Amino acid sequence: MISKARQKSDEYLMFESLHVRNGLSEKDKQYFSGLKKGYEGELLFDSWMEEVTADCLVINDLLLKQRNNIFQIDSLMLLAEKIFLFEVKNFEGDHYYDAGKLYLKSKEERNNPMLQLEKNESLLRQLLHSWSYKLPIFAYVVFVNPAFTLYQAPLDKPIIYPTQITGYLKQFNQLTSPITTNENRLATLLTSAHIEKSPYSQLPDFGFNQLKKGMYCADCHSFALDLSKYKCLCRKCGKSESIQTSIMRSVREFQLLFPNEKITTNKIHEWCGVPIDKRRIYRVLDTNLIKKPHGNLTYYE
Ligand SMILES: [Zn+2]
Repeated sequence: MISKARQKSDEYLMFESLHVRNGLSEKDKQYFSGLKKGYEGELLFDSWMEEVTADCLVINDLLLKQRNNIFQIDSLMLLAEKIFLFEVKNFEGDHYYDAGKLYLKSKEERNNPMLQLEKNESLLRQLLHSWSYKLPIFAYVVFVNPAFTLYQAPLDKPIIYPTQITGYLKQFNQLTSPITTNENRLATLLTSAHIEKSPYSQLPDFGFNQLKKGMYCADCHSFALDLSKYKCLCRKCGKSESIQTSIMRSVREFQLLFPNEKITTNKIHEWCGVPIDKRRIYRVLDTNLIKKPHGNLTYYE
């Protein structure tokens, strides 16, 4: 059972929005491309985890704090009296392992996920001990990309390769012990300890004026929308959405990018950048947000 589903983080959503609106430098585009690849790899891993039929609780994407250390867990599975921790990597192409370090074939060194895993496992254990839990933790790095190869792969490291994932996860289906209130209570503790905002997210500099204005398709991010009285229809992928939903999606995006800016009809009209009557924007804001009169200006929260 999925106890905490994976969602795009605020950092991811901001980068995605800035990417669609041409607000990223080449360097930031590269960073976002890494974020995106990592997220896609995690979704791929989730699709395999969904096949596990053993009685378990799966908690995805946890950001936790142990003393002054903040650490992120990609996927955690609670079974009866044990915990499995998975560090998911979507690395692609030829790599090699040498003297405890991981390199691309071009000899460029990459962050070694095994070290990350060791650190996360230790911090998680300390956190569990502080809650008086002593369950054994089994931690693995999972390489999910079928186009990943590791030369000189160490035999003694907890690694699951793309060709081993389904077989590895299948073994859990033979377990028959049900989880107890103990594991359920731990799952609740872990999800409540989750930190929503990562202090490490790195955002590029951007301003309202430099970003492309308009509404775009929720699925394919195309700005080519046909607007009728109540609907937004994407000319590229055919997705249809109510105008109200599209406008509110743009408002949420604006709030995320500019948390200190006031939401006014004029500002959102400019942000949406499509030939929609201002009264329409006003009605949508009025219905979905709380009106805050402020002298001559009315804004929404
Ligand atoms: Zn579309």
